[in-house]
Amino acid sequence: MLVFKSIKNLQEYISSFSADKTIGFVPTMGALHKGHLSLINSASLNNDFVVVSIFVNPTQFNKAEDLKKYPRTLEADISLLNKVKCDVVFAPTANEMYADKVESSSFNFDGLEHLMEGEFRAGHFDGVGTIVKKLFEIVNPTNAYFGEKDFQQLQIIKKMVAKNKLDVNVIGCKIFREDDGLAMSSRNTLLTSEQRKAAPLIYKTLKQVREKFETDCIEDCINWVKNEFKKQPILELEYFQIADEETLKQAPNNNSKKNYRAFIAVFADKIRLIDNIKL
Ligand code: AMP
Repeated sequence: MLVFKSIKNLQEYISSFSADKTIGFVPTMGALHKGHLSLINSASLNNDFVVVSIFVNPTQFNKAEDLKKYPRTLEADISLLNKVKCDVVFAPTANEMYADKVESSSFNFDGLEHLMEGEFRAGHFDGVGTIVKKLFEIVNPTNAYFGEKDFQQLQIIKKMVAKNKLDVNVIGCKIFREDDGLAMSSRNTLLTSEQRKAAPLIYKTLKQVREKFETDCIEDCINWVKNEFKKQPILELEYFQIADEETLKQAPNNNSKKNYRAFIAVFADKIRLIDNIKL
């Protein structure tokens, strides 16, 4: 496995692959866990080469403190990647990716960018679009792997690829969870033991609301979730929404319950956790 920090050196190496070989690409922000490894595993099963990027992208953070606190564990990440089928790691600096202009481009994702995460994290998806487009241009992957953990991000990347007619297949991978149901996340390492103990409530509530959705109207489901979080002091609900998987718009209060998903964002003090479930 080779580790590159420079775009030029990475591209030189990638251009040595023969043109008929496929490249599976997994973009990450590091602090790797089994969720990331499941994406890398899918990439390795279906491609000749696997490229993993590790870059904590400053332009997608809407809070300076969140960016500062984000876990950075490059050495441990590299030793983990050495144990799986990963051919190339790309771990650039912010300067390498942005030169002297650490700024996002502005994207139109047909409104997907204004809902849920976009509503609560201003500019987040411009930052995501900017970095993923840059990375796609550098790596030129055949297939790119993204987790359903960030379902809105997955849909936005698919939209970006379609609108810009980029030559890459975007593949969604299922959410990897801890034994107690908490979705794996690099941010979980920042939780205190008390917060970590409380955090499985997120998935527990999602599973329960999936059942409720069979019989109850959307408004009742939303109110029930709000109430579940009010009952305890550690996790603060930011939003809960039941939305169409394609448009991400709030589901209408009717019986066509196909392709809906419940989305949730919760704060444990300043640590923000998100999750979702197919209904
Ligand atoms: P991140 O490092 O958080 O930017 O995540 C990099 C990629 O891994 C994104 O496509 C995420 O959706 C995906 N990912 C993160 N956590 C999980 C998880 N628990 N299960 C599956 N994919 C995940």
